[in-house]
Amino acid sequence: IITIDKVNKWYGDFHVLKDVDLEVFAGEKIVVCGPSGSGKSTLIRCINHLEKHQKGSINVMGHELTNDIKDISVIRQEVGMCFQSFNLFPHLSILDNLTLAPIWVRKMSKKDAEKIAWKYLKRVNIAEHAHKFPAQLSGGQQQRAAIARSLCMQPKIMLFDEPTSALDPEMVNEVLDVMVSLAEEGMTMIVVTHEMGFARRVADHVIFMDEGRIVERQVPEKFFKNPENERTIEFLKQIH
Ligand code: ATP
Ligand code: MG
Repeated sequence: IITIDKVNKWYGDFHVLKDVDLEVFAGEKIVVCGPSGSGKSTLIRCINHLEKHQKGSINVMGHELTNDIKDISVIRQEVGMCFQSFNLFPHLSILDNLTLAPIWVRKMSKKDAEKIAWKYLKRVNIAEHAHKFPAQLSGGQQQRAAIARSLCMQPKIMLFDEPTSALDPEMVNEVLDVMVSLAEEGMTMIVVTHEMGFARRVADHVIFMDEGRIVERQVPEKFFKNPENERTIEFLKQIH
């Protein structure tokens, strides 16, 4: 569903992604970890073309991501993204946050958009907050709202960039639980996270990035028990 082939990216002179290869199949769950600055966010932002790569190729659901790509809106509809900061519109109610894109991008009627919104609000367990503004919700509730908002576009792939790292510890699990249930339903997911319990539970593969390269890709069991790369071993020592 995603094929990344020898991708290189620079920010000015800084070589941020170096010959990155990654193949993700439909329904697969990939967890990406690695030290700060290793290029994790950049890599997943390239997958929905929030960032452009300069060399190599990225193909998402049959669409080649090139600089002059015309069907970028197709990619944005098929690939949902969820960030560390929830990025909800502060002046809109939760319900309006969820219906905005389906109405304006998918051209849905308000009634249909609200029907889908309620479905996902219930799904992530925040239906009773639908008419509140984001600032009236806890961090965990806001992040679940952000996930529900992405789901309203009915994406085939979900990208998560450290979705729980801005949350107080007691709210981490309520967000991870939503992600686990999404995984169980067969969503294709790429998740940047240092929540290794989540990685153990749902990942098909764990990827370790260091200085712009994928230096290790393993099934979780092997990744945690006997990683091959020196840097992975060091990293795992630090977070345990
Ligand atoms: P973290 O764990 O801290 O989120 P990361 O692995 O997600 O790190 P990236 O955000 O992908 O790392 O950044 C990789 C490198 O690229 C960093 O050194 C960062 O400073 C640099 N970088 C990121 N965005 C830009 C930008 N827009 N312009 C210039 N340099 C950038
Ligand atoms: Mg990052």
